[in-house]
Amino acid sequence: MAGRGDELVFAPLGGVGEIGMNLAIYGFGDPHRRKWIAVDLGVSFGGDDLPGIDLIMPDIRFLVEERRNLLGLVLTHAHEDHFGALLDLWPRLKIPVYATPFAAALIEAKRQSEPGAPEVPVTIVPLDGRFSLGPFDIELVSMAHSIPESNGLIIRTGLGAVLHTGDWKIDPTPVLGPPTDEAKLRSLGDEGCLALIGDSTNAVREGRSPSEMEVAKTLAELIRTAPGRVGVTTFASHVGRLRSVARAAAACEREVVLVGRSMERIAQVARETGYLEDIRDFRSVEVFGYLPPEKVVALCTGSQGEARAALSRIAEDDHPEVGFSSGDRVIFSSRAIPGNEKAVMRVINGLVARGVEVITDRDHLVHVSGHPRRAELQDMIGWVRPQILIPAHGEPLHMSAHAALARRAGVPKVITCRDGDLVRLAPRPGIIDELPAGRLYKDGSLLIGAQERTVADRRRLGFAGIVSVALTLSHKGELVSGPSVELTGIPDADVAGTPMLQIAHESVLEAFNSMPKPRRRDPEAVAEALRRAVRSAIGSAWRKKPICHVHVLTV
Ligand SMILES: [Zn+2]
Ligand SMILES: [Zn+2]
Repeated sequence: MAGRGDELVFAPLGGVGEIGMNLAIYGFGDPHRRKWIAVDLGVSFGGDDLPGIDLIMPDIRFLVEERRNLLGLVLTHAHEDHFGALLDLWPRLKIPVYATPFAAALIEAKRQSEPGAPEVPVTIVPLDGRFSLGPFDIELVSMAHSIPESNGLIIRTGLGAVLHTGDWKIDPTPVLGPPTDEAKLRSLGDEGCLALIGDSTNAVREGRSPSEMEVAKTLAELIRTAPGRVGVTTFASHVGRLRSVARAAAACEREVVLVGRSMERIAQVARETGYLEDIRDFRSVEVFGYLPPEKVVALCTGSQGEARAALSRIAEDDHPEVGFSSGDRVIFSSRAIPGNEKAVMRVINGLVARGVEVITDRDHLVHVSGHPRRAELQDMIGWVRPQILIPAHGEPLHMSAHAALARRAGVPKVITCRDGDLVRLAPRPGIIDELPAGRLYKDGSLLIGAQERTVADRRRLGFAGIVSVALTLSHKGELVSGPSVELTGIPDADVAGTPMLQIAHESVLEAFNSMPKPRRRDPEAVAEALRRAVRSAIGSAWRKKPICHVHVLTV
């Protein structure tokens, strides 16, 4: 039921204009009294441009302010870019969380492995489940994807129904779980769909993504014909892929050994939730050394080249239990996430250097994406026939390709927005406002705002080092002791061989001596003058300007 003045709005607070850290919110009601629900709460991973930062999360300032009107958080699936920020951010919101059994079990497993993580109350929703949160009626739609239990959400309100696709592809033979529920999506189309908010990841790729079954066949062949040991690396959460490997191994009487903590954790969760019922037990890593080479398949973590993961250590011959050598075959049943290519190449090169045969998706069909290509996006639009389409889950390139495709497919209104845009879906659709949005960095055990200087300072330190100067002045402004100068991360000498320490030291003395005597009684003025002098002296010797701290003590 919609009252006069009610509106239905949508805002992405993460994941739109970038891949990762998905967070979307939907609001319903009078603009002054909206009720909200949130969908997903994911992370992104930090790259070289963010020294010391492993995880990036959406800034949830707006949700914290609106906490009283926030009815719950619904998770579409348990990929890190959709649920990875839950344990860190939930204490700021303390709202009910809704997830399917596999996602709920993964949250619990994660909580147990992170000391101090909060106990999040999760309401388990069955596949295809339907429940209400205030003015929102929410129904799950099963989608094929690269993790069990990926769901689209049909969000029905008094002003129309929205399909939030989550991550999906069309795969008639997905190996694990039901295929994308075409019948339910078509009937949503018959019922009338106001808006489709959809996955744009592969919107620049023509055709359809191959089926998981094709990958299973290739893996089976490569494992069957392998002369020695076999290693396979993939995302641990891709339980369908783990099953394909396990089946292929069983067919040629090889045992599957799990290598890496996240493999063990997922395997346990998958057993608990019934996804490995017909699969022979995996062996733990200690037995690897006792099995003959032609009797083993090692399922390893580290498909993204993560430095501490199993495969990186194996590639450096630094793993306590597992080693590969000439005659062994390692299959990358994965693709490098943009930004990880160099790290993955390092692992591949390490393995090849020790004589291991490496197989990737460049030479064999050992991986497929879990996201829809263009023909699949067209199918979805044809089934659902939305009035409005909003591209999500993508970088600007992917989203604009998705938008153009939707227009060509005849969708009456296509709205491209960015994180923080408040989009009114009904009545009179369009972008109406901007909400506070941004990023948080997980830095050690703390969460810091991306706008804080911390990481920018760290980047500057990494680029040009630091000079520290200390000196003591009397209250009359006479030099009592110092200056002492210390350099960190700065070359020892300039091109002529003059020590940098000497250059810094002389510039400090010269600047001090050239200051008028009365000015020398002002410690702040002294510090500022010396700082400028050091930066400029080192700057001209090096053509880089370091950070400079001057400590002036007065006695
Ligand atoms: Zn995703
Ligand atoms: Zn996903």
